[in-house]
Amino acid sequence: MVSVKFHPIPKCVPVKKVCDDDGLTESDQETSSKSIKSEKPFYYYIRNGDFDIVWTNVAVFLTGHILFFYTYYYAFYEFDNRTKHLATILWVNALTPWLGTSLTGGAHRLWAHRSYEASLPLKIFYMLGFTVIGQNCLYIWARDHRVHHKWSDTDGDPHNTKRGFFFAHCGWLMRKKHPEMIEKAKTLDFSDLMKDPVVRFNTEHYWILYFIFSFLLPVGIPIYCWGEEYFASFLMCFVFRYIGTLHVTWFVNSAAHMFGEKPYKEIEPVENMWVSLIGYGEGYHNYHHSYPNDYQASEHSHGFNLTKHFIDLMAKLGLAYNLRTTSDTTVELCKQRQMKINNETDDMLKQKSSKAKFNSYKMIALFSLWCYYYSYASFNERFAEPQRFQANGVIA
Ligand SMILES: [Zn+2]
Ligand SMILES: [Zn+2]
Repeated sequence: MVSVKFHPIPKCVPVKKVCDDDGLTESDQETSSKSIKSEKPFYYYIRNGDFDIVWTNVAVFLTGHILFFYTYYYAFYEFDNRTKHLATILWVNALTPWLGTSLTGGAHRLWAHRSYEASLPLKIFYMLGFTVIGQNCLYIWARDHRVHHKWSDTDGDPHNTKRGFFFAHCGWLMRKKHPEMIEKAKTLDFSDLMKDPVVRFNTEHYWILYFIFSFLLPVGIPIYCWGEEYFASFLMCFVFRYIGTLHVTWFVNSAAHMFGEKPYKEIEPVENMWVSLIGYGEGYHNYHHSYPNDYQASEHSHGFNLTKHFIDLMAKLGLAYNLRTTSDTTVELCKQRQMKINNETDDMLKQKSSKAKFNSYKMIALFSLWCYYYSYASFNERFAEPQRFQANGVIA
């Protein structure tokens, strides 16, 4: 494993590739900056054979999803030793709280937003859990997330929702980065990330850590401890877990930017309870984008914000400190201002819908009139007395 030295970290310059960069390598930057291919029509790609696609990721996700669905089939029809498989399912589920909090509490709220500080043991706990999830190294994840916040829902956003649900959900990982995003990312300073020894260690040794903690241990423990089948353990403890956690994360980028309410600010991100439920409290996205440095990532201290409760617990144990929040007054002022906007929007929508209703009634009335006229005319045509002509052409 080649370790890359980061001394000194040049400000505003992306770190060279140390773990898979989802298309953001230097060569990709050159290719992408030649033209903005997302603005070209589809036949352009067919004719030129240039799809601007990261084929490796397409292959990984496609294979992963086929195996993901095969795991269901395997679980219901092919499993011979159900007791062992049940133990494996319990094992995978037991890992979930660790993995979830590592992503939301660690990579997201701690490193990407610096919304609180954590002690070394907690950082190591997060770093290892995040490595198991397999969503790239900490540096790249936090960097992309900061860019996402800075230029949300524009071409500068890695998962811009204006390019559709599929793109925001997972398509962005299968396309090369937009040139505007690459250019804008260069203007941000990410050097604080690599100054953190835990992030640095994770980034420099990502692949070996990934092999041990994401593959070898989760898959090997069921095989070694209770004699699980090799293939069953691989399916459940590697493929299924990986694809499942990917979708939960992806829903924060897609659904939590598209389906929900905006009580705090007039921005694209929304409050989505369902995403919060599966995403450990990450679905209160209108609040989170309004106040990204709030460790709670939500106004509501109750409900489905498991990450907030976990950080509180860590703070009580002395492992987390300097928790940052937003003052109630600020939140209240924003809510009142936004309520006015929402009411105005509601009124506009109501006016629009009443106009639409009136138009549809008008259309129905016109259609009925036309039906009536047509049936009347055809009735006359059919049953009216036929005109009789005499031999000299005079009507009888
Ligand atoms: Zn977002
Ligand atoms: Zn965030």
